[in-house]
Amino acid sequence: MEKLCYNGQGKIKAIPHKDSAADAVLSRQAVFVRGSLKCEVFAMIYQNILEAIGHTPMIRLNRMADPDSAEILVKFEGLNVGGSIKTRTAYNMIRMAEKEGRIQKDTIIVEPTSGNQGIGLALVGAVRGYKTVIVMPDSVSEERRKLVRHYGAEVILIHDDGDIGKCIQECLNTALRMAQEDPKVFVPQQFENENNVYAHKYYTALEILEQTACRIDGFCSGIGTGGTITGIGETLKKQYPEMEIWAVEPEHAAILAGGTVGTHLQMGIGDGIIPAILNREIYDKICIITDEEAIETAKRLAYDEGIMCGISAGTNVAAALKLAKKLGKGKTVVTILPDTAERYFSTPLFDGN
Ligand code: PMP
Repeated sequence: MEKLCYNGQGKIKAIPHKDSAADAVLSRQAVFVRGSLKCEVFAMIYQNILEAIGHTPMIRLNRMADPDSAEILVKFEGLNVGGSIKTRTAYNMIRMAEKEGRIQKDTIIVEPTSGNQGIGLALVGAVRGYKTVIVMPDSVSEERRKLVRHYGAEVILIHDDGDIGKCIQECLNTALRMAQEDPKVFVPQQFENENNVYAHKYYTALEILEQTACRIDGFCSGIGTGGTITGIGETLKKQYPEMEIWAVEPEHAAILAGGTVGTHLQMGIGDGIIPAILNREIYDKICIITDEEAIETAKRLAYDEGIMCGISAGTNVAAALKLAKKLGKGKTVVTILPDTAERYFSTPLFDGN
């Protein structure tokens, strides 16, 4: 790569550019001179959409916040490439598998997922040229299926007869069967893949530390694969050992709290299994949120704060409001808004609209 330098007299000079950052790339630099005004311009050109992953904004909640509680900061992953936090993990799992030589040009990526991970993998597969097949429960929103297909991937639907845990297990069995039958099939296995955790431990969490530049007293997150809470939790707790971390579960899938598993509306979390990559030492408390609380809070995020996010974002913020109340004024609570509202048009989040 080279830097292009404009010398102000109609000439552009190419100079070697040693920036080896693999992600965002400063690809061109120019200096414009207008009279006495000298202006240096860096062009930010991503070589492909994958380089634009991450660097999502951290936003203070204002109208929803209780003035006597801790302040709440939300990291809005709905603005991430692919519309969710799971593009980060999809990219990291595929990138590392490529690096370790576990996938080749003719590899077929097959993954069982309740949604966003499938959208992320379909996106990465599109850019990298891998055929991608996503195995998902038929109870997740129709938008998820359509988005996966729109990236050119194939969808296999497994019927959810009221036990999401059983259904996710059946999705996994289907993917593993396909891998047994075809050596070209690679199953990233987000529920046990450490590169899922590392995407958050070394990227999302460092962004949070940089963006907040202040003491963080509380963090809370729902659990799908557990990658988010484990990765972010481990890095934040290392920096702030006194902080409090809450794991958040849907009322009808509170498996960590010893509850039973049914069907619920908080898609992406509460998959009815305890994931292998979840660090069960990282959270101090489990907070249970009902479907009604999650949806009401997600709606308030839109009409009180102007933030269009999904249902599990409502779950996280409902828990963050409780954690903020417990910690009190002067403290700071961080949580994640995992995806955008626009993949929930067909769900009760948009009832009445
Ligand atoms: N919310 C949504 C909407 C998700 O898709 C996911 C991913 N399953 C999560 C939350 C939870 O993330 P994690 O898998 O890292 O626990």
